[in-house]
Amino acid sequence: MRDWAEALQQFVDGITSSVAVVGRDADNELVVTACNEHFFEMIGGRRVGGRMFPFHLDAVVPSYARHELRSKILECLASGAPQEIEQAYDLRDGSHWWRLSLKPLHHLEAGRDSTQILITGLDITPKMLLTHELEVSTSRFRSVVDAAYDAIITIDQSHRITLFNRAAERLFGYDQAEMIGRSLEILVPDGHRAAHQGYVDRFAHSPVRSRQMDERNLIYGQHRDGSKVPVEIAISKISVNGLVEFTAVIRDITDRVHLMELLQRTAATDELTGLPNRREFTDVAGQLMRAQKDLSLFILDVDHFKRVNDTYGHDVGDEVLKVLSRVSVETVRHKDMFARLGGEEFVAVLPDADAAQAEALAERLRGIFERQAFEHAWKAGQPVPFTVSIGVATRTAADQEIGSVLKRADQALYRAKEAGRNRVACG
Ligand code: GH3
Ligand code: MG
Ligand code: MG
Repeated sequence: MRDWAEALQQFVDGITSSVAVVGRDADNELVVTACNEHFFEMIGGRRVGGRMFPFHLDAVVPSYARHELRSKILECLASGAPQEIEQAYDLRDGSHWWRLSLKPLHHLEAGRDSTQILITGLDITPKMLLTHELEVSTSRFRSVVDAAYDAIITIDQSHRITLFNRAAERLFGYDQAEMIGRSLEILVPDGHRAAHQGYVDRFAHSPVRSRQMDERNLIYGQHRDGSKVPVEIAISKISVNGLVEFTAVIRDITDRVHLMELLQRTAATDELTGLPNRREFTDVAGQLMRAQKDLSLFILDVDHFKRVNDTYGHDVGDEVLKVLSRVSVETVRHKDMFARLGGEEFVAVLPDADAAQAEALAERLRGIFERQAFEHAWKAGQPVPFTVSIGVATRTAADQEIGSVLKRADQALYRAKEAGRNRVACG
């Protein structure tokens, strides 16, 4: 008996993990018959009075861990099968996690089998701390991803979706559950799929790790309801076990696109009349000139407009300009552009119109205003008579810029004014 106990004690002292041997005493209580220093370190107990084996297990194991440990030992004794538990022990320097393995040790004592349990414990605190840190950072990552205003989508090497956050659900109209594992292609509009695939493949092989996708053109996402959403996409890639994974951060820029369209319209439009402004006229006329288009144009100026303002007031003057604009747009052809140059001066660009056609159109317009051949409820309570003078010019082979054509039309307008107004003159 003594030899066996001493042999055991020497054995366990030489082991660097926590080791204890537990058996039953004569009263059937669980007692520790041998253990090493690490076992005491594990349970945070002090060895009182030297090595006094055996001692009651309950006397050294803290109460919060006692029940679980006892039942595992009893289970191991009853079944004869090895057991394993993970337990935390609170020590002065914080909690330590241990993985305890319980194995039955059979030996004969006084001719009968006396089974004891060998407990070995490994300190798994570093592993538990890592696991905990990973859980914290994973849940932090998840909450950031889910709270993000932008859609975040991750795809694997074969373009299958592995992450689809809440903003992505809102932007594309799909649930995360139905998107995980599906191909990304469903979110790319029909005509763009091949280009998209090529783009991602090129990006996969480029040394750049993140970039803004196509800064020059508008990119669209395909919503479940069939609509196309203008988006801005930043993509980045990481290599996971040798495979490339892509993360796309996608922002819905519908509002910005609307704003840009509004700004473009505003920049090109005259506020009072809603007509294209001088800048827009110059732009469009310039394009026609560069495209070597045949064209005519005329400049229209209200006669004695100052008098209209003086007689009826500035508001009615504005009304004249608005009526003139509306009637002119209705009178010119669809492909013509009628624009406001400024003040009471307007211009019409007439693609493919020769001098005779342009003059006829100008003459028609002049007649309409002279006769007030249009419906309008005047604020003044009575019709406000006004006439216009028009100068017409036609592009010749010598005209490289719209300015030279415009200049001849202006000279013609001057002649029309000189000749007594309310008339059309050709340059
Ligand atoms: P002419 O027959 O020689 O063209 O004489 P006119 O009075 O029409 O020409 P003038 O250039 O002397 O005067 C143009 C007037 O148009 C002066 C200006 O107050 C007025 N005007 C310019 N822009 C606006 C506008 O947006 N609204 C109103 N109500 N008047 C304007
Ligand atoms: Mg005038
Ligand atoms: Mg004028």
